[in-house]
Amino acid sequence: MMKATKAWVEAQFPLIRHHASLVYLDSAATTQKPDQVINRISKYNRQEHANIHRGVYDLSQKATTAYDQVRQQVKYLISARRDEEIIFTKGTTESLNLIAYSYGMPMLSEGDEVVLSIAEHHSNILPWQQLVKNKKAVLKYLPVDIEGRIMESAIDTVITEKTKIVSVTMVSNAFGTLQPIASIIKRAHEVGAVVVLDGAQSVPHKKVDVKALDADFLVFSSHKMFGPTGVGALYGKYELLEKMMPYQTGGDMIEYVEEQTSTFAPIPQCFEAGTPNIEGIIGFGEAIRFIEQIGYDFIYKEEMRLTKYAYDQLSHLSHIQIYGPLNIEDRGPVISFNVEDVHPHDITTILDQDHIAIRAGHHCAQLLMKRIGLPSTCRVSFAIYNTTEDIDQLIESLKKVRKWLGYES
Ligand code: PMP
Repeated sequence: MMKATKAWVEAQFPLIRHHASLVYLDSAATTQKPDQVINRISKYNRQEHANIHRGVYDLSQKATTAYDQVRQQVKYLISARRDEEIIFTKGTTESLNLIAYSYGMPMLSEGDEVVLSIAEHHSNILPWQQLVKNKKAVLKYLPVDIEGRIMESAIDTVITEKTKIVSVTMVSNAFGTLQPIASIIKRAHEVGAVVVLDGAQSVPHKKVDVKALDADFLVFSSHKMFGPTGVGALYGKYELLEKMMPYQTGGDMIEYVEEQTSTFAPIPQCFEAGTPNIEGIIGFGEAIRFIEQIGYDFIYKEEMRLTKYAYDQLSHLSHIQIYGPLNIEDRGPVISFNVEDVHPHDITTILDQDHIAIRAGHHCAQLLMKRIGLPSTCRVSFAIYNTTEDIDQLIESLKKVRKWLGYES
C-alpha cells in the first residue's frame, strides 16, 4: 500500500510537481489529475481515437470496447446491477437535468410534490424548479439544522403521499455535512417516491453502494474524483430508466428514422445522443482505476485524518468561526469557516499571496447560506494529495490575516 507522503504526491500529480509552492485546498471544486489519467487520455488520442458505435473497422471497435468498459467500471464502482443502468453525461449538473426532464416530465402530474433539501447545490434546485413550473407541481424543502444537516424529525411530514421525487445531496458541498440518506430513502419508498442522490461530494471519497442503499438514481462528476472535466455518470434503476423519455435526440440514440417519427435505441444509448466525450470517458475510467488501486478505505482514512487535523488546528485560532458538524465523522473532507471582521474574499486573496488556493463565496448553496445567516464563507477541502504540512501552511497564513488588515498588532 502506498503512503500519501509528499514524495508520493509529487510523483503522481504533475500539477503539484510543477507548482512547488502551491497548497491546493479546493478539491471539492475539482481535483487535480494524476499522471496515470493524463497519460491514458494522451495515449487514447495518440493511438486509439476513432468514433464509437459506428465503424466496423478495428480502430472504431476498439474505441467502442474501451468506452463500454468504463460503463462496466462505473457499474462495479457503485455496485449497480447492470451496465445499462449507467448513463454517461457531462457531469452532475447534466445528470440532474436529465433526470428532472426525462423522468419528471412523463411521471409528474399537477399537484404532485418534489422534495429537495435546503442544503442543495444550485444544480440540484434549478432543474426541479423548471420541472414543477412546467407540470404545475409543488416544490418542497426538507429543513436543515445549524450544522447544515437535514432534520430527521421533518422527514415524515415533508415527504407525503403526494411526493413523487425526492432529490438530495449525500454530503453538503458547502459545509461538508453528511446527510441522513437512509432515513430519507426509507420514508420516500414508504410513500412510493423515487430518490435521487447527488453523490458529487460522496463518490470521490467513500464507497457508495446503490444496491445496499436501494437508491433509485445516483449522479456524480468525474472531475471531482481525479478524472477529466465534462464527464459524469447517472445511475438509474433499469425499471425507472424504462419509464423515461429521451433527454436529447439525434444521432447515436436511434434505431430507425422515418420521415415523421423515429424509434429509439435501447437503454442506455437512447440517453446518449451525439458523439460523446470519448477521451473524457476513457480518462474517467482511468481515474476509477486510480481510486481502486489506492482503495476507498485508505482514501477515507487519510482524508479524515487530514480533516480532523485541520479542524483541530483551525479551532485553536482566535476569531474564527467554523461551520458544519462538530463531530468529524459527520463530515466529508470539507471545512467552511469565517474569520471575524474579514470578508472571505479578502482572506482568499491574502492566502493566494502565499500560494494557498481555497474557495470563498456561497458555494452554489445560497439557500443553505441564507438559513445559517451568512452571505459567504471560506472553504477548504482535501484530497489524497494533501499533507499535514499543507494545513500547517494554511494556519500560518491565516494567522497573518487579521494583523495585515489592522485588527491585531
Ligand atoms: N452537486 C454538488 C454537491 C456539488 O458539489 C457540485 C459541484 N460543486 C455539483 C452538484 C455540480 O457538479 P458539476 O459542476 O460537476 O456538474
